Amino acid sequence: MKKLMVGCLVGLSVGAALAEYPDKAVNVVVPFAAGGPTDKVARDFAESLRKPLGNTVVVENVGGAGGTIATAKVARAAPDGYTLLLHHIGMATSPALYRNLTYKTLEDFEYLGMIVEVPMTLIGKPSLPASNYAELTKWLDANKGKINLANAGLGSASHLCGLLFQSTLKIDMTTVPYKGTGPAMTDLLGGQVDLMCDQTTSTTSQIAGGKIKAFAVTTPQRVATPVLKNLPTLDELGLKGFSVAIWHGVYAPKGTPKPILDKIHNALMVAMKDPELIKRMEDLGAVMVTDTRLNGPAHKKFVEAEINKWGPIIKAAGMYAD
Ligand code: ASP
Repeated sequence: MKKLMVGCLVGLSVGAALAEYPDKAVNVVVPFAAGGPTDKVARDFAESLRKPLGNTVVVENVGGAGGTIATAKVARAAPDGYTLLLHHIGMATSPALYRNLTYKTLEDFEYLGMIVEVPMTLIGKPSLPASNYAELTKWLDANKGKINLANAGLGSASHLCGLLFQSTLKIDMTTVPYKGTGPAMTDLLGGQVDLMCDQTTSTTSQIAGGKIKAFAVTTPQRVATPVLKNLPTLDELGLKGFSVAIWHGVYAPKGTPKPILDKIHNALMVAMKDPELIKRMEDLGAVMVTDTRLNGPAHKKFVEAEINKWGPIIKAAGMYAD
């Protein structure tokens, strides 16, 4: 009888906690530094999530080791719905790249779904003596062995895109890793690094302000956003088949109660339909995904397929981190 009462009380308090969720701010961990493209996506989503979720959404930047420090932190966080992870393709490339990961990508998280896909741009420092891709290739040929290419660490989008660019052109560049392309952009603007592949959620405003050199987009089709629509694709510039777009998803620590996950998922669904968010993302070249992709089980299957796709490529390239 006593046991039953305790059981009832525990049941009641868990039920009350679920009913009240969220009664404080929800933390969205971004695995890269502030001021970068993932940070921008997270902050824009946070604004549109506040109303449907019913409380403030705070973005926390935990950069370093290509996003794996933040991912490990969320895997270990209390599964109470107050800590979420917003991560990109790095979620799927890290298992092959990092031998000492302290989390299991497919086992330690509840998958909420994909939210957005973001094209990338090939950009250069303002003082680069090239204003279009043809001039850039001449400059690359003339400067072999001296070129610096910034990225956001092993397994980041900028890293993968930069590798693909180098291997397609067969030119080796010195890669310079940062905790995110936010700080990398500061150095690119200052001329400390020459080139970078970065997502349009960060580069569009710099391109619009004429602050950086922009040479091409990495998607197979041009990006319709007014600022970007005149940029050719790398494919049309002769790098046949070059195709990089960066998907982003949302995750919670394993064991987060289903009613809380449902509440977050419903709030994400509402946020995705917010005309202001749609406009903010479209203005930056990002593409909101369909309802079928903002789906936990479907996204988990997708990430598993991405892990299987990238694993052999990364192993064949002999890329590892400890
Ligand atoms: N998403 C990273 C950032 O926000 C950049 C990258 O992955 O290349 O800094």
